Amino acid sequence: MPDKLEPILKLDGIVKAFGGVRAIDGLSLSLREGETISLLGPSGCGKTTTLRVIAGFAAPDAGRVVLRGETVNKRRPYERNIGVLFQDYALFPHLTVFDNVAFGPRHRGLDAATVYQRVERYLGLVHMGEHAQRFPGNLSGGQQQRVALARALATEPEILLLDEPLSALDAKLRKSVRAELKAIIAETGVTTIIVTHDQEEALSLSDRVLVMNRGRIDQDAPPHELYRRPANQFVAEFVGRSNWLRGRVEMADGARTFAAVGGPRFAAPAHLPDGREIMCFVRPEDIRLAAPGETVPDGWIAWNGTVSDVTFLGQDIELTARVEEVDIATLVRTRETPKTGAEVLLLVPPDSLGFVEVD
Ligand code: ATP
Repeated sequence: MPDKLEPILKLDGIVKAFGGVRAIDGLSLSLREGETISLLGPSGCGKTTTLRVIAGFAAPDAGRVVLRGETVNKRRPYERNIGVLFQDYALFPHLTVFDNVAFGPRHRGLDAATVYQRVERYLGLVHMGEHAQRFPGNLSGGQQQRVALARALATEPEILLLDEPLSALDAKLRKSVRAELKAIIAETGVTTIIVTHDQEEALSLSDRVLVMNRGRIDQDAPPHELYRRPANQFVAEFVGRSNWLRGRVEMADGARTFAAVGGPRFAAPAHLPDGREIMCFVRPEDIRLAAPGETVPDGWIAWNGTVSDVTFLGQDIELTARVEEVDIATLVRTRETPKTGAEVLLLVPPDSLGFVEVD
């Protein structure tokens, strides 16, 4: 019996360089059975190379790939029981949808009845059963994506690797296919790694998100924690939008304060080191406009500002206010949005402020 507590996959100190440049630079991660994780990061940070190393299409220069406790660096891709959905889907154009999905199971020598069952099951799961006899060239992008997913699932891999699974779809389709993908992962219970540069995709689909930066993992955390408590400036900037205040912790009027350069001064949290330069961030959606005559709630921070810009976004309105010499963006939903030039009071709940060391 496999040990359920043992990670299904471990990467241990992986290094992979191309012409002296390290695409992966000492990367370690661990994945439990049934988990879905995302590798999230900007273009060129090493996400796809990491997937290729896991799948066995690229050999690491150093480090170990461990599947269920066994080092598999030397195992060929087809000996790893890993399913891969490539970014461009890579369907065989000359094969029907049925034969595309049947390809893996047939290659593994399964008998015709089992192959048929597998194709039925996985084409059904992605709602493509009725298109089994069509060719990829006659399918829409979303349909091709589903067939490619069925093909990756049909070998019933232990681990499913999805490289930018939704990037070829337009914005509207992406949302609905994302929901379907989530349901399919839940229904099959397959352990999944998603590579994406799209934070919404990572946050909405994963149990944990691993933010990659220059071939390393900067933070490995559940989505909510990643958003609320980013480990450093890179993560805070990459995940979500923030207002940034640069400043330092110093004494003023007998209290320890955070003094933003050109911006407001407010009480500093106790854990911050004195004198250290720090960045403070606050998400636009956490800031509220005070109603006329409203008293500031206990412990909240209040900033007087002048509206410098109002942008209608549909559901929300982005209102930017100048606070001393700093522009602070907020998202508001009021029907009576103040006009440019109006005086406003911004209310900031104290637990919505985040602080990171200056990189
Ligand atoms: P993207 O989102 O743009 O696909 P990524 O995060 O997946 O980016 P990788 O494709 O893993 O990044 O590439 C990481 C770095 O390694 C990049 O600088 C890339 O140019 C380089 N690289 C990747 N594959 C090769 C290769 N076969 N030969 C040379 N350099 C490569």
